[in-house]
Amino acid sequence: MAVKIIHDRSTCIGCGACAAVCPDFWEMAGDGKSNLKGAKGKGGSFVLELPDKKCNLNAAQSCPVSCIHLEEKGKKLI
Ligand code: SF4
Repeated sequence: MAVKIIHDRSTCIGCGACAAVCPDFWEMAGDGKSNLKGAKGKGGSFVLELPDKKCNLNAAQSCPVSCIHLEEKGKKLI
């Protein structure tokens, strides 16, 4: 997969911005933080690999605590 989306969930403050701008991939969870749908991980960090960024770059740019990161072909975008 060309794009890796990384959610540092331990840093998430639950503002809801990612779920607002990119609801196909982000949703708010019962504990007040967001979930990256289909991501794998445990503890504070979750990863999802996709062929394309889709709206996840918008989600990352909208995050006030910069806890969403994107890598494309191994290169960090944000
Ligand atoms: S935009 Fe960032 S801080 Fe806000 S809910 Fe999403 S991941 Fe959490």
